[in-house]
Amino acid sequence: MYALSLLLLGDSQTVYWNIGCGTDLKPTCILYPKTVEEVSHIVKLLNQNNETFAVKSGGHSPNKRFASIDGGPLIALQEMTQLNYDNATQTIAVGPGNRWQHVVQATGKYGRSVVSGRLGHVGVPGLLLGGGLSFLSAERGWASTHVVEYQLVLPNGTITTASRTHNPDLHRALQSGGGQFGIVTRFTLNTFEQGPVWGGVRFYNGDKTPQLLAAVRDFTEYYPDPRAGLILTAETTLYGYADLWVMFYFWNGASPPAHVFENFTKLPPMIDTVKTQSYTDLVYANNAFVLNGSYYSIATETLPLPDAKNGVEVMTAVHNHWKNTSAQVSDKIFGSVASVAYQPMPKLISQQTKKYGGNVMDMGEDGHRIILEYDYSYINGFAENERIGDKANRELYSGVRSIIQKFMNDGKLPNISTPLFMNDAYHAQDFWGRFKERDFMKSVKAKIDPGDFFGKRTHGWKL
Ligand SMILES: Cc1cc2nc3c(=O)[nH]c(=O)nc-3n(C[C@H](O)[C@H](O)[C@H](O)COP(=O)(O)OP(=O)(O)OC[C@H]3O[C@@H](n4cnc5c(N)ncnc54)[C@H](O)[C@@H]3O)c2cc1C
Repeated sequence: MYALSLLLLGDSQTVYWNIGCGTDLKPTCILYPKTVEEVSHIVKLLNQNNETFAVKSGGHSPNKRFASIDGGPLIALQEMTQLNYDNATQTIAVGPGNRWQHVVQATGKYGRSVVSGRLGHVGVPGLLLGGGLSFLSAERGWASTHVVEYQLVLPNGTITTASRTHNPDLHRALQSGGGQFGIVTRFTLNTFEQGPVWGGVRFYNGDKTPQLLAAVRDFTEYYPDPRAGLILTAETTLYGYADLWVMFYFWNGASPPAHVFENFTKLPPMIDTVKTQSYTDLVYANNAFVLNGSYYSIATETLPLPDAKNGVEVMTAVHNHWKNTSAQVSDKIFGSVASVAYQPMPKLISQQTKKYGGNVMDMGEDGHRIILEYDYSYINGFAENERIGDKANRELYSGVRSIIQKFMNDGKLPNISTPLFMNDAYHAQDFWGRFKERDFMKSVKAKIDPGDFFGKRTHGWKL
């Protein structure tokens, strides 16, 4: 009855950002559904057995067993590549097999864009189910705020939809629900008029650390223009001898006024790719930083923004903790790369999110924050290397949390909530424990998944 594709291990295994998800774990089979009915059929079959399974879209989650599985079926959604732009509603219906590069290319043909991922190769579903941070977030809020409708398969196999008017609680829960509520088979997204943008990357030498840390703090506090976005990353490798910064610039227009990025642009870059280009080209160009073929381990922490008086002390302590912890990895794993990303999370993102209808993962307007993302990568997947990378990651996030707590106790950091950002979190981090709307999420879960099908049968953060 169902022309379901079923392969015994196929190409889906080779397409993981963390190649360890594919090389170290072996599913018993990989299912490639093409329609929502096929996904529903699979879920109904899974209800008749006890197998642990995984759902995979873009494969960018580096956490093993989230979108990968050892000894159970893998549901790979890569064949569901629907992309239908509706001119009347100016929305686009996106199948879960798409990556952001496909979506911005499709909308770009109409002179429009979506609040998308910043690097094109990242999968649409995982990013949206974790809220989604975009270069356009200061203008339009969290990416998932712009999901008009989800089509999904519920734990019992029922096909349904959720929007702000139909199943509104489920719609809200899906804005940052991960894979805990169902398998999403279509996202209908708002689109916006889109002209040329200014952006690209600039590399800076490691000796610019004090100026760059000060600049990212100031930028987050004064946020000079909602059309601006940035990611500031530091990278260290080769036993700490290669030490540099890579800054991703974005401004939604042909050329930003000089004051917007002034604190950064006054520093001389070593390499500069920043230019005026189409939004689609920028999102594609950033793929140069999706370095495939490595093993990865990531983690996150949320830093309340220090004021100007305490900025140098706090930012330096946080950065040095990363450098010192990363030295262990550099010393022990040849060719490993450690990186940290400073991602501004000004109140403005919260305000814009509200303007567009709100989001369950809203971090709040009580203060500015910086989302820290840490990652370690290495090309040799020895178990010992994985152990070293994971140990360092745990020390990184728990250590920085202690540093933040101490500065809060000393009155040097505002005592505001520090929820974790799902899309950058390590599997052992207490994502739900720090989620403001956890009780709401649990209440929705109790209604649609009383037996906790997805909690018990898949990995991922369990509510
Ligand atoms: C290079 C890189 C750049 C990134 N840039 C950004 C960025 O700009 N902004 C941002 O917010 N995040 C970013 N991320 C983080 C990224 O959003 C997450 O890793 C996200 O999970 C990736 O989505 P995916 O579809 O590729 O995920 P997958 O690895 O396929 O899945 C991730 C999780 O979602 C579940 N899942 C997947 N599809 C479905 C579905 N259809 N229904 C239900 N559950 C599902 C999986 O089971 C798994 O638990 C980036 C990550 C990388 C590696």
